[in-house]
Amino acid sequence: MADPVAVTFLGGLGEIGRNCAVLETGGRRVLLDCGRMFAGDDLPGVDSVLPDFEWLLGAGGVEACIATHAHEDHIGALPHLLSRIEFPVYGSRFTLGMIAHKLAEAGLTGRAELREVGDGDQVSIGPFDCEFLPVTHSIPHGLITAFGTPQGVILHSSDFKLDLTPVDGRRTDLSRIGAIAGGAGVRLLLADSTNADMEGSTRSEREIGAVLADVIARQNGRRVIVGAFASHIHRIQQVADAAVDLGRTVVPLGLSMQRNLKLARSVGVLHIPDYAVGDIEDLDDYDPARVVIVCTGSQGEPRAAITQMAQGRSKWVKVDDGDTVIFSSHPIPGNEAAVASVRNGLARRGAKVVHSGQVEVHTSGHGKRQELAVLHSVSVPEWFVPVHGEYEHLVAHADLAREMGMDPDRVLVCTDGDRIVLGDDGLSRDGSVGGDHLYMDGTVGDLGQVVLGDRRVLGDDGFVAVVVHVSRGRITAGPDVVSRGWVEQPALQAHEAAVAAAVAEEIEAALARRSPSRSELTRLVRRAAGRTVAERTRRRPMIVPVVREG
Ligand SMILES: [Zn+2]
Ligand SMILES: [Zn+2]
Repeated sequence: MADPVAVTFLGGLGEIGRNCAVLETGGRRVLLDCGRMFAGDDLPGVDSVLPDFEWLLGAGGVEACIATHAHEDHIGALPHLLSRIEFPVYGSRFTLGMIAHKLAEAGLTGRAELREVGDGDQVSIGPFDCEFLPVTHSIPHGLITAFGTPQGVILHSSDFKLDLTPVDGRRTDLSRIGAIAGGAGVRLLLADSTNADMEGSTRSEREIGAVLADVIARQNGRRVIVGAFASHIHRIQQVADAAVDLGRTVVPLGLSMQRNLKLARSVGVLHIPDYAVGDIEDLDDYDPARVVIVCTGSQGEPRAAITQMAQGRSKWVKVDDGDTVIFSSHPIPGNEAAVASVRNGLARRGAKVVHSGQVEVHTSGHGKRQELAVLHSVSVPEWFVPVHGEYEHLVAHADLAREMGMDPDRVLVCTDGDRIVLGDDGLSRDGSVGGDHLYMDGTVGDLGQVVLGDRRVLGDDGFVAVVVHVSRGRITAGPDVVSRGWVEQPALQAHEAAVAAAVAEEIEAALARRSPSRSELTRLVRRAAGRTVAERTRRRPMIVPVVREG
C-alpha cells in the first residue's frame, strides 16, 4: 500500500481569486499558489480577501510553496503567510521577480528563499518529484506542475489557454502531458475552470496585436493612451511593437506599469529598444502624435492612471479631444460600473474611447470549452477535480469532463475548505477544514464579520448616537442625539428631537420604578431610539447608545 496523498483547497474553488491548495503526504506539505482576491463593493473598506491559514499553521505549516505564475490571485497572499512562517518559494524567473518586489514592499525580503525553476525542470520539492511545463496565459512564464506522488501523477493545469501562436512562442506543452499520460498516467487532474461555461476557443493573443496595431495606426495626429493590466507583458509587447513601427515612443505611466516593464525587460520577456521607451516626466517634450502612453486603470481602479485622467486629477496627463484611449481588457465581473464611469469621464473631456465591446482589443487568458476538452483528451485523467472558478464554472467543467466520457463518479466538484484524499482505492472526500475568508483592511489587518456588518449598516443608513448622563436616579444631562448619514435637514431636527424625547421618557420611567444598572439603561436607550427612528423614517441606521453615570 502506497502512502495516500491529500489535497486541501484553501481558496479559489467557488470564486475567482485567492487560489491556494495544500498537497500533503506522509505528514509533509507543499503549498500550491498563495493568492488573494480583490474585494467588491459589498465589502466596504476591505482591500483584499485572503485564504484563512489557521488550519495550515495549526498543522505545522509547509515545506515550500510553488507559485505557478505572478497573478495576484496566485501570489497575493504570500506576504501575509510569510509574515507568519518562513518557507522557500519556487517559480519561474519572471514570477519570482514579481514576488521579490512584493516581499520587499512588505519588508519581508529574506523570509523566503526564491528558487527559480524553468520549463521542463524536474525538482524534488518536499515529498514530491515535481516537473514543470510551459503554459500559455495572460502573463509570461506560467508553469504547469506535474506532481510525482506515492499515488502517481497529480497534474495541475495552472491558469491556461491553448494559444498556438503565443507572442513569445512558448506554447502549452501538450506533447509532454501526452507522454506523461501514456507513461505513468495522470492519476488526478486539477484544471482551470474560469471559462468552462464558454463555448469554443479563445482567440490567440497574436490576433489581438494585429487589431491593436490597426487601431493605433488609424490615430493619425492623435495621442494614444492604452489601458491594460500591468502584468500582461505580451499585450504591452504588442502595443510597443505597433508603437515602434509607427515611430511612436512608448511611455509607461503608473508605478506598477513602470516597475513591471523594467522587470520584464530585465528578465528578457519584453523587448523594446531603449530609444523607443520614454519617461513620463518628459511627456511635454514629445509631440503628442508621436507617443503611446501605456498605463493601468482598464478596470476602473480608483487610484489608477486612467481613472485619474478621467477625473481630471492626473498629475501627468490632461486628456482632451486630441486623445484616443484604448481599453485593452474586459471589465472583470463586478467592475463594469466603475469602468463605464471612467469611460464616460474620458468622453466628457473629449477623448475618443475604444474598447473591447467595439473591436477585438482583448482576449482572455483562460481557455474555453474546446481548449479544456483538448487538455482532458490529452491528459486522460483517472480522477478529476475542477479548480479556479466560481461554483457554476466548476460545475460546467465537471459536466464537460463527463461529456467527454469520464465516469461521473470520478469527477468531484469541491469547494473552499474541502479536503480530498487520493489512495490506492481512488479519490475520496475527507471533510472540510473551513475555507473561511480573511478580510484585510490596510493597516487595520484582519476584519471579522461584525465589523463588516457594521460597515454595511453605516453605508446603507448611517448612524444615530444618543448620549445621556444619569446621576442619583435622574437625568442630569441629555439625551443628546447626534446622527450622520441618516436624514437631511430640515426634517432631521424634528426626528432627532423625537428620539431625544422618547429616550428621556423611557429612562425617566425606569429610574422612577427602580435603580437600573448602566447596561440596562443602555439597552433601554437603544430600544427607545431604535423604535422611534424606525417609526418616523422606516430606516435602520446603527443606534449607538451612550449612558454615563455620575
Ligand atoms: Zn492567472
Ligand atoms: Zn488565476
